[in-house]
Amino acid sequence: LVVLGLESSADDACAAVVSSDRRILSNVVRKQHHINAQYGGIQPRQAHEAHIRTMPGVIAEALDSAGLSIGEVDAIAYTRGPGMFGCLSVGVNSARAMAAATQKPVLGVHHMQAHALTVLLTEEEPPAFPFLTLLVSGGHSILVLAERLDSYKILLDTLDSAVGQSIDKVARLLRLPHSTTTGLGPVLEKYASAPPLPPYDTAPLPRGARPLSQLKASEAALSFAGLYPALQVRELHPDIDNSAPPEAVQREVARVFQTAAFDHLASKIALVMRGLETPVNGLVVSGGVGSNLALRERLRTMLDEVAPNDTPVPLYYPPIALCTGTCTPKLRPLTTDNAAMIAWVGILRLQAGLKGEPLDLELRKTWSLEDLYDDVPASCY
Ligand code: ATP
Ligand code: FE
Repeated sequence: LVVLGLESSADDACAAVVSSDRRILSNVVRKQHHINAQYGGIQPRQAHEAHIRTMPGVIAEALDSAGLSIGEVDAIAYTRGPGMFGCLSVGVNSARAMAAATQKPVLGVHHMQAHALTVLLTEEEPPAFPFLTLLVSGGHSILVLAERLDSYKILLDTLDSAVGQSIDKVARLLRLPHSTTTGLGPVLEKYASAPPLPPYDTAPLPRGARPLSQLKASEAALSFAGLYPALQVRELHPDIDNSAPPEAVQREVARVFQTAAFDHLASKIALVMRGLETPVNGLVVSGGVGSNLALRERLRTMLDEVAPNDTPVPLYYPPIALCTGTCTPKLRPLTTDNAAMIAWVGILRLQAGLKGEPLDLELRKTWSLEDLYDDVPASCY
């Protein structure tokens, strides 16, 4: 099986061709960082318009790079949700128009299921079900129990903002330089891991200076809003509304915030894991925040603590993947949004017996992983 996948749930326009023998024949990602930098974040209207302009070219490039024409793929998969309505609509319309014209099967994939199952595409020895997957991005902070291909339980969710969203917020608050190629997350990580500058090299800010969230330690939920209140940065640098704080403040606040956010995440995951009835075969981390090295270290320590005497639960990160087509660059991270993961779930669902979906299924702007494909008619299988 060879499937063309399209992804356009947020600001990246992506198309990829993947085969059922786990080869990524092409994987094209067109980012909008330069547009986001102009507007100080993702603007739904601007992102939608950018997709309209770029998606056709991205699809052409993915097919061309894989050396295939649309007539040669077996099916077309697109992200049906969750995501921004305008952005999603560009991908779904492109997919269905191609499907209608070529009479190929078309299917809509849950974006977070695709993040969760990327590991089955990329790992030499992927974990067997059930496994846990942590999705940490600009839009999500959820811990999910993947029980089967189409059955998921959400074990942890955030009550307010997503971890990546608050990372971006703190980076903006600190006025860290906006990178037009990577976005703000890696910039915050860089400041957080840089050595502290005076006066904080001798008297660092106390880590627990503020309560993390209103959540009790025993509550199975996440909360990142207000993790590092604007107020405290104002105390450190009263002039912040007029100028960027000194680098010493930027590094220190970045470090304290990042440590607090990841401690919070790790301790809540540990809480949930201790209460699991069946053992899990791994913890898969995906989403942009999953590329943060401090988070990776923190999760490893946490897993070792959760199972001190047993075999520790293995950690998986969807790696940088090799694209076998002529696409440049050849290597791409599969932790962030991409269409290879969408094509891959398309393949898994076809292999599990799906024949194709109707062309008029509704988009799912919000869509719980626990209600997967509940509106796909039984006759499609
Ligand atoms: P979703 O896919 O959930 O709709 P998204 O489009 O924001 O959201 P990603 O591209 O996976 O998803 O993640 C981007 C987020 O990850 C941003 O908030 C960004 O700041 C954060 N991020 C990226 N790299 C790092 C890093 N090294 N450290 C911390 N955060 C990071
Ligand atoms: Fe994503």
